[in-house]
Amino acid sequence: MTLTRNDVIDLLTAAASVDLRKLGEADVTGWSAMLRSDLDRDLAFEALRVHYATSPERVMPAHINARAIEIRKDRADREERLERELRADRNDARHGLEPVGGGPLALNADGPPVPGAYEVGGAVDRECPACGAVPMEPCVNRASGRPMRMPCLARMKSSA
Ligand SMILES: [Zn+2]
Repeated sequence: MTLTRNDVIDLLTAAASVDLRKLGEADVTGWSAMLRSDLDRDLAFEALRVHYATSPERVMPAHINARAIEIRKDRADREERLERELRADRNDARHGLEPVGGGPLALNADGPPVPGAYEVGGAVDRECPACGAVPMEPCVNRASGRPMRMPCLARMKSSA
């Protein structure tokens, strides 16, 4: 993934809409040479956006390079955090523990139904208003199509 000459022209045109710079062939060639070769178009534009959203300084290739690295690191950190949480939830499910925090991920965990959970408020005796599971059948994760360890909240709560 790297920037094409057209990407650089578009990027400089976008910069010019803010700083009113004049663009010529030399600018395009110069910027092409100075921007990191591993930038893609989205990242370069996001870097430009962040730069002009946070700095009054006229943008230079070094700004784009530095911002792009920050943005990429940010994204990697976020993904890693999410993955770690998912892994922790899966571990808890394997060991039959209730995940700490109990966010939506925890409630929707797929797996063998926990009988006790389905008996809360007689949930198992009625149809689920959320996922449509019939009485005596476990709730179904509509995203994965697999049974869920715990019934949908709506099924536990509905007291007809
Ligand atoms: Zn349900």
